[in-house]
Amino acid sequence: MSTRKNSAGGGALKPLPMILGAAALIVLGMLLSTVLVDQSAPSPAPGAATVTPVYSSAVLDIAKDFYCACGSCGQEELVVCSCDTAIQEKNYIHDLLEKGYEKRSINATVQAMFGGGKT
Ligand SMILES: [Zn+2]
Repeated sequence: MSTRKNSAGGGALKPLPMILGAAALIVLGMLLSTVLVDQSAPSPAPGAATVTPVYSSAVLDIAKDFYCACGSCGQEELVVCSCDTAIQEKNYIHDLLEKGYEKRSINATVQAMFGGGKT
């Protein structure tokens, strides 16, 4: 009986420190994550916005035929404007170029999608 109790007791005693350790790790992790989230929360948004994407001359060649379609930057040239809409438009042009579309059909598609064509 004593041996049975011992083995059972040993089995019951062992997991306890592990649970405590796990709990401590979870608490630590929560503390760390709140600290990390606190510090990193403001940085991604401005970081993503301040990075000016570099466009190929082919993209800019098409973009220069358009004004920015955002409507809030005073009909800025699409090439010059770096607002979200302008970036979206230029990414769209880039996408179509990647797919092998001709300049003329990209022009027409961008005009249909966003408008702001100079002609
Ligand atoms: Zn704009």
